[in-house]
Amino acid sequence: MFANKIINWYLENGRKLPWRETDNPYFIWLSEIILQQTRIEQGREYYSHFTKRYPTVANLADASEEQVLKSWQGLGYYSRARNLHATAQHIAYNLDGKFPSTYKEILALKGVGRYTAAAIASFAYKLPYPVIDGNVYRFIARLYGIHTPIRTPAAYKEFENLLNKLIDKERPDLFNQAIMDFGSLICKPTGCDCTQCPFRLECTAQKEGKVSLLPVMPNPPKVTERYFYYFDIRWPLPAETILVHRRPSGDIWQGLYELPLVETETPIPHRILADKARQTLAEWFTDEPLSVEAGQSFTHHLTHRTIQAQFLSVKYLSKPSKIPQYFSPVSPEVLKSLPISRLIDRYLSNQ
Ligand code: SF4
Repeated sequence: MFANKIINWYLENGRKLPWRETDNPYFIWLSEIILQQTRIEQGREYYSHFTKRYPTVANLADASEEQVLKSWQGLGYYSRARNLHATAQHIAYNLDGKFPSTYKEILALKGVGRYTAAAIASFAYKLPYPVIDGNVYRFIARLYGIHTPIRTPAAYKEFENLLNKLIDKERPDLFNQAIMDFGSLICKPTGCDCTQCPFRLECTAQKEGKVSLLPVMPNPPKVTERYFYYFDIRWPLPAETILVHRRPSGDIWQGLYELPLVETETPIPHRILADKARQTLAEWFTDEPLSVEAGQSFTHHLTHRTIQAQFLSVKYLSKPSKIPQYFSPVSPEVLKSLPISRLIDRYLSNQ
């Protein structure tokens, strides 16, 4: 009953999205990785770019990691792009270019969790695995009056057991798309119009006046602050040049380029900032800069961190005689072609 009703609603009201018009598992996988933590409209743009630039899994595998990171620029969570590239290489080179076709094999791919595996398995191969994302949690928690805090292992198990009973085994693709769209378009986080809802008579939250109380959210993750001091080091002769470095592994933005950076545990008071900057420059270079000035500052939010970034503008007349080997001098044009974080992009766009 439930499956028929939600699928009928979807057939009349569901969203038309480009990745729903294909059963190519490679395209579906691309769309699902892009859509993790991404708004649909932004995802549409990147999906179109990736499917045109890398029309087959072999094309994506043959690209360099730097090219893939550049294509990904602006989407954030860059580990997704690195996993995407590594997985494309695994499929192209180890699996003969054949996309895995069982839930278990799909789940074993790097960067693929249970939600993504269920989405690919059901959309590409019509396998009956229910998807559970934030929209599904909200809709089902309200409909069945479930008070278990969502996004926890216990909640996943509970919702999965329930959805395994509800899913349409013949049309799992439509069922999954329907419950996601219903949660996103009708059973919204706030301001949903329950009087127009086709499930209002059976909805537990509506009957018990608990719509605004469900779903129960888990405890929010702790957000830590980090203090980044970026040095925008440039010289005009013989040609405009700026120094960059590549972020190492084991931290955020691995493999992306950025300006030379010093991170501190606490903020540096503004009155001593220029002196501190000059001390650092003396450790990096033997030459004295022409000028050192505090520039723009940004507060940049990531999921578990807030970055307080202060940029410092450092001018030399010409190339310093000795440059640390971990910095690379590049022209501003070359810098535009390198993969960079959204924070660096924000800064450079304001120059
Ligand atoms: S009645 Fe309201 S709370 Fe219940 S499923 Fe419909 S929109 Fe969601």
